[in-house]
Amino acid sequence: MKYKDLPAWSRMAADWGENYFATIRRRPVRSSAKPGEFLSKLPAAAPEKPDDMHTIFEDFERMVPDGMTHWQHPRFFAYFSANAAPASILAEQLANYIAANCMLWQTSPAATELETRMVDWFRDSLGLPGHFRGVIHDSATVANLCAVLTMREKALNWDGVANGISGQRQPRIYATSENHSSIDKAARIAGIGSANLVRVSTDDERSMRPESLRHAIEADLAAGLVPAGVVLCVGGTSTGAVDGIAPVAAVAENFGLNIHVDAAWAGAAMICDEFRRHWEGIEQVDSIVINPHKWIGAQFDCSVQFLANPDSQIRTVGLRPDYLSTSSVGQITNFNEWTIPLGRRFRALKLWFVFRAYGVEGLREMIRNHVSWVRELQSRFDSDPEFEVLTTCPFGLFTFRLSGSDDSADEKTRQLLERVNNGGQIYLTQTTIGGRFAIRMTAGQFECTKADVEAVYPVVKEAAENLRAQ
Ligand code: PLP
Repeated sequence: MKYKDLPAWSRMAADWGENYFATIRRRPVRSSAKPGEFLSKLPAAAPEKPDDMHTIFEDFERMVPDGMTHWQHPRFFAYFSANAAPASILAEQLANYIAANCMLWQTSPAATELETRMVDWFRDSLGLPGHFRGVIHDSATVANLCAVLTMREKALNWDGVANGISGQRQPRIYATSENHSSIDKAARIAGIGSANLVRVSTDDERSMRPESLRHAIEADLAAGLVPAGVVLCVGGTSTGAVDGIAPVAAVAENFGLNIHVDAAWAGAAMICDEFRRHWEGIEQVDSIVINPHKWIGAQFDCSVQFLANPDSQIRTVGLRPDYLSTSSVGQITNFNEWTIPLGRRFRALKLWFVFRAYGVEGLREMIRNHVSWVRELQSRFDSDPEFEVLTTCPFGLFTFRLSGSDDSADEKTRQLLERVNNGGQIYLTQTTIGGRFAIRMTAGQFECTKADVEAVYPVVKEAAENLRAQ
């Protein structure tokens, strides 16, 4: 296949995409593939001679979609959505044609400057103060790692990057168990170690107790350890837990600690004024991550990290070898110095298309709808004695299970979830709350409607009836 053949095949892909979206509702949301099923259909070795493009395309159509879980299905209620707005899909197609490596300003001037402006647009729509600047990473996992590395180095006065961390006094990071596992991963990769990720206790709302944080820091100082920073969550993955930023900042400030806020999912909701009270004090933090690829519709991968002072992070993860040096230093930004990988995709384009195609008001309306529909659904489960709602959250995520506190309710809820997902009409996932198995429900797909969210209750109810009857 040559570049000259690409337009015809791109049109084929667009037609395929049209049909995919037109028929997506007929597909089971979660793939029913068995482990190894797809692999067994693939030849063991790459072809020596080129395959005909028609055959390749036919094989794709015949084999791939049925082997996938459909994240853009409007009834995908699992994990968090990886929302792909149509305008974002189009922007990705264009970025694919250019296929630039946006590692330096010089290798991608428009992409770099668009990134700067998109981060600023996003910051302002979220109501964040103008001193925050930012960068687009691939994932919140990388943003969290950068934040944890920066905390470590600030606390060690950059002696870790210079001399390694063995032989240093032990840095300590503070977070609750509501944080995403990428914080645990960051502690491991940063050489801090899981044992030095201190789990601060939470209150009844699953928010960090500022007094417990203070005690933990004081105990560590007394033991000769080095408190480095606090990671807070606004919309934790399991239940949507929200830490109180202002009260924690009041403690952290006393000890000069960095604060990073992981708002990968729920941060997007802050484009709506009414949710902002849930991150009061945000102007005091050092770093925030929000994934437009979760809720805003700029599809995976697109994770924005806001930084109060990018210099600390650049000093930690940035390098400028001779072979990457360019002119215009001082007037330009080389975003690879703000993050871990050198090579970078052109991610700002989809954010640009999304903001312009829907307007911030359009995105607000989508988020408000998702949240209010999920709340209505939650009250249906709440008023049915067969179910118990275990947790709620301000951003449209609740957990529930079959009523009953014994082990059999755990097992029955597990079976219920399996039955629901095998049915293919909706897709929900699970978590554990205080040792009890629970089903999570959240909505976020771009074309999800009220009727889609309402469908969850009858589907679950019917599955529960069938389970009882078996
Ligand atoms: N932080 C939170 C709160 C999350 O919910 C997730 C994923 O769901 C992550 C971080 C990791 O996100 P990513 O897939 O962008 O690394």
